[in-house]
Amino acid sequence: MKDDVLELMARVKTKNPCEPEFHQAVQEVAESLTLVLDRHPEYREAKVLERMIEPERVVMFRVPWEDDQNEIHINRGFRIEMNSAIGPYKGGLRFHPSVNLGILKFLAFEQVFKNSLTTLPMGGGKGGSDFDPKGRSDNEVMRFCQAFMAELSRHIGPYRDVPAGDIGVGSREIGYLFGMYKKLRNEFTGVLTGKGIGWGGSLIRPEATGYGAVYFAAEMLNTRNEDLTGKVCLVSGSGNVAQYTVEKLIEMGARTVTLSDSSGYIYDEAGIDREKLAFLMDLKNVRRGRISEYADKFKDAIYIADDGTRDHHPLWNHPAECAFPSATQNEISEKDAENMLRNGVYVVSEGANMPTTIGGVRRFLDAGILFGPGKAANAGGVATSGLEMAQNSMRISWTREEVDARLQGIMKAIHKTCRATAERFGTPGNYVNGANIAGFLKVANAMLDQGVV
Ligand code: NAP
Repeated sequence: MKDDVLELMARVKTKNPCEPEFHQAVQEVAESLTLVLDRHPEYREAKVLERMIEPERVVMFRVPWEDDQNEIHINRGFRIEMNSAIGPYKGGLRFHPSVNLGILKFLAFEQVFKNSLTTLPMGGGKGGSDFDPKGRSDNEVMRFCQAFMAELSRHIGPYRDVPAGDIGVGSREIGYLFGMYKKLRNEFTGVLTGKGIGWGGSLIRPEATGYGAVYFAAEMLNTRNEDLTGKVCLVSGSGNVAQYTVEKLIEMGARTVTLSDSSGYIYDEAGIDREKLAFLMDLKNVRRGRISEYADKFKDAIYIADDGTRDHHPLWNHPAECAFPSATQNEISEKDAENMLRNGVYVVSEGANMPTTIGGVRRFLDAGILFGPGKAANAGGVATSGLEMAQNSMRISWTREEVDARLQGIMKAIHKTCRATAERFGTPGNYVNGANIAGFLKVANAMLDQGVV
């Protein structure tokens, strides 16, 4: 690590103790940005990176709610308003027991760069709660969402901060959150994205992150005159991003052989076809069951429970050409990366946010594979949220084909920008540097224009 990055990281760690994911996200960006800061001292003098590391605002609040047995629970709610230099804060809400300040700060920090890459005018933010929707009734989830929005509604608005979904926040939760916001404010506005199609949502928004990650992989392969036809793919997770990644991979003629949840994973050598995917979507989105039931239904597939003791995840240890990590942060360790490379993986398109550890990223970059970091590869979701905001403002709805065409255009543009920027700064083929630098430049220039605020 260079001296200036070491010094910065020492300060970040002292000022933000017990936030390892935030440190990791900052370090990865800071390492890329030395290439820019050495060429353009004006950013260093204006302390642009130091300002970007400090959230503009952090809101932390109590969320008290009653379960079906009238027992009272107290959760913690958060909204990190990270950077508004190029537009209103924009980023998802995560409901998961692991949620804490450091995880949301890492997500909000990454979101700033990602939103900048989309070419749309969106700042960066993220929020959520340590509430666990798993095993809760619809009524309990509704009461929690209403209690959460009772406070969050004071801080958001269509020109201020526009949240969306993330882990544990899908169409059901967005519906309850929107209903409560509308009741409290007595206004029908595009204050959330991921809304239902009948009440302000955009076609293709549910599909967008997964589709976008596949479009990004296709763009990377295209640079080697290859496509996804016949490629064997490893996908982790089985939620929103994983499901639509598999759907698009089927459409493009690839064969997906794995899926997972936090209890374990399935390996289906024959590949997940449309019928199996329909079963998975019903299992996860309607019946809210576990991935093990996939192997109960389809006897050729095997289920391997996660025993929590391994130093690697066996999902990443199968022969394949492509990988789409689509569950959560740090799900690919350095050991997993080594296993993947040994098994023939040479395309990684990150559907999840920061799914690869710093050691794992180094392995991929050293091996010279096509590695699309989450900031770029999963930006299709927030980009389509931006398209939902545009449709809400104009009070019109675009067709499925129109939104999909715009999404594809945006993913192509992000790929081109990352590639060109990596080359311009002397590291051709390094999409990590390309994404970090290109995302930074747009925000940094806006911050210089707007003065010290
Ligand atoms: P989701 O629908 O809630 O699905 C999450 C999936 O990941 C589930 O299968 C879940 O299993 C698994 N998972 C979550 N936490 C885990 C953990 N700690 N260990 C193992 N498995 C875990 O969420 P999603 O929207 O697909 O999001 C997945 C990833 O994509 C996240 O990193 C998110 O930040 C990122 N992302 C999402 C979007 C979007 O538009 N939704 C956009 C950009 C990036 P369980 O059900 O067992 O927990």
